[in-house]
Parts: sequence; C-alpha cells; structure tokens
Amino acid sequence: MYLETIQLKTTRVCLAEPGKIIIVGTPSRSLDQILPFLANLPGVIGYKPDTNILTFRRKTGFMTLYPEEVIFTQVTDNEEGISLFEALVDAINSTWEKREQLTAVTNSKKPNKHLDYYLLLPKTNCKICGESTCLAFASKLFLNEISLDACEPLFQEGYEDRRITLEAMLS
Ligand code: SF4
Repeated sequence: MYLETIQLKTTRVCLAEPGKIIIVGTPSRSLDQILPFLANLPGVIGYKPDTNILTFRRKTGFMTLYPEEVIFTQVTDNEEGISLFEALVDAINSTWEKREQLTAVTNSKKPNKHLDYYLLLPKTNCKICGESTCLAFASKLFLNEISLDACEPLFQEGYEDRRITLEAMLS
C-alpha cells in the first residue's frame, strides 16, 4: 500500500460554478513517488515533472495533485469530497501495485483542446486582456500566442487555485 488516507484540509467557494465547492486534502504520505506513474492514467490534461504537479479533467471540474496536497474543483459538498478522496486513495494504491508494468512519465503533458483552459478562466469576458471574450483568450493560450499574465483578474483573490492549475497546464 502506498497511501492510507487523504484528510480534508479545507474547503473554498468554487468560483467556476456557484453553489459548488473546492475541496483541499492532505495525503498521509507525500505523493512525489507516485505522481509520475499516475501521469499515465486517462484523463490527464497537464503534468509538470519538475514540480510534480498533475492535473486531471473530471466529468465536472478538475483534480490537481501536488506532492503534499490534493484539490478537487466543482464538488457538491463535503460528503462527495470525502468519497472522492477515498476513490483517489484506492486509485493511488492500485497504481502503485502495478508500477512495475508502468513507465514513469518524465515529459510535460499539456491539454489538447482550448476548452480545458477556458473552463479555468474567470469567464467574465471583461476584455482586460485585450481579447473580446475569455474563449478567445483560451484559444490564444492554447496556441501559445498570449501569456497567462494578461488575464489580470486571474491574479486576484479567489482565483489562486485556478491560476496555479493553469500555470501547471501551460508549463
Ligand atoms: S482578462 Fe481574463 S477574465 Fe477578462 S476577458 Fe480576458 S481572459 Fe476573460
């Protein structure tokens, strides 16, 4: 077994979807050794080997794994969050058991569609970045034609999780 538990650390309001929450968990052991193997699983949209940050797209929202922290966005309530943590512990342990048949990922992975970026943007279409919509900005991010820094609202309070996730996806 690699991991015993992921404990609920805190919850925050999920700005991506009103009424939903972001849940943050602390694994009972650092995930640094398992993350390169988890990066083989389906649903990965971003992986940064140098900092070991791994992002998955979920049916709704995202899951981002850091060595010492786990974040799920667009979660209904704490109860669902605890279930997600338990499922993740199972997936981690099962991956660890099969690690000899897997190859540790050593290259960066990036999303293959601009909508993965769009879903993490503030989606206010404020135009501060110079683009007419957040979707247009996401398209340019995808094509590497604009810097994330141009979206000033993303650097304001409340967007930290999404900004860090986007930075990991873009690196
Ligand atoms: S600055 Fe950010 S929130 Fe505003 S339109 Fe551009 S991408 Fe969207």
